[in-house]
Amino acid sequence: MAAMLPYGRQSIDEDDIAAVAEALRSDFLTTGPRVEAFEAAFAEKVGAGHAVACSNGTAALHLAMLALDIQPGEVVIAPSITFLATANCARFVGAEVVFADVDPLTGLMTPDTLSEAMSRVGDRRLRAVLPVHLRGDTAELPALKALAQVAGAVLVEDAPHALGSTLRFGNAVQQVGDCAYSAMATFSFHPVKTIATGEGGMVATNDPALAERLKRLRSHGMIRPEGADPWWYEMPEVGFNYRLPDILCALGLSQLAKLDQFAARRRMLAARYHDGLAAFAPLLRPAARPDWSDPVLHLMVALIDFEAVGKTRRQLVDALKARGVGTQVHYIPVHTQPYYRQRYGAMDLPGANAWYESCLSLPLYPGMDEADVDRVIAALGEVLSA
Ligand SMILES: *Cc1c(COP(=O)(O)O)cnc(C)c1O
Repeated sequence: MAAMLPYGRQSIDEDDIAAVAEALRSDFLTTGPRVEAFEAAFAEKVGAGHAVACSNGTAALHLAMLALDIQPGEVVIAPSITFLATANCARFVGAEVVFADVDPLTGLMTPDTLSEAMSRVGDRRLRAVLPVHLRGDTAELPALKALAQVAGAVLVEDAPHALGSTLRFGNAVQQVGDCAYSAMATFSFHPVKTIATGEGGMVATNDPALAERLKRLRSHGMIRPEGADPWWYEMPEVGFNYRLPDILCALGLSQLAKLDQFAARRRMLAARYHDGLAAFAPLLRPAARPDWSDPVLHLMVALIDFEAVGKTRRQLVDALKARGVGTQVHYIPVHTQPYYRQRYGAMDLPGANAWYESCLSLPLYPGMDEADVDRVIAALGEVLSA
């Protein structure tokens, strides 16, 4: 049997390894010149005024909540189809989560599902709405921003899936991370994401005051006032140790330089999937692409009518695995997690439910080639018709 294709994985070359080795031989292991270099290169790449590196994507979300001064009892809206961290960051600051439903064909929060979620905020103060660019396709940011603004809230894009994606409304083409519609956008460099540092995260923003605050909160809430004695530091507010080490920023810089190459490969593979999967409609269809979205897909999600196929998802997953094809489910609706069910009670979000019932992520990463995609499609063909 050919090697197993996982649903996602990092692409690390000798030059990435050399970049890390060089950092290891330097004077700095943690706070050194590569941190600012990575931040500057990242900000430039996504078109943001500022970028602040941190330990992981979850820390990036936590820092964003802290920098906005979100208080206990205030509300954050997150879609139910996302990784746990999108909702959990609200709880880190004592805020309450209102879960928005998603479009069952894209998995994205929409203006309609946001409006419906906003109707459940009640008398509480809504502070932030966290759209997730699930799979790499972008949420409808201008309309979501307009709705949030009416309530006095801002958008914080949880963007780990969409590094390199663009969106077009009218003549305006924006890049994910340029924060054209949001206060901040957060990223993760976990090994399955578009670029990898092992653990790692970034917050992009155009607001210099937010960037300063994020930097301060990332390192214990400490500042070193200008003109003070060399040993002096002050702590005006309490922060965390969420720094990203120089060693990992070296890897980030080296990976970022390959983003265009990774993106081109992902686009090519996704296009081949779209062509190949067309034969399986209506039993299986790729997740829908909104018209404004030109994605660099992080996940290749197939939506499968398991009832019509006559197999359970488990049977399909196992049969694909036996043919060397790894899959994953993105995601179990977060509002159904025991913690949230206990806190907020059972809730019916039909779009999230329908998405969860039908989704399956197929292998997609830059180390794959066309033959790998063809292998997945052939395996699917066997399994669906068996
Ligand atoms: C990966 C991911 C996170 C968390 O990032 P970590 O670096 O693993 O902490 C948060 N939100 C989304 C949508 C993600 O995909």
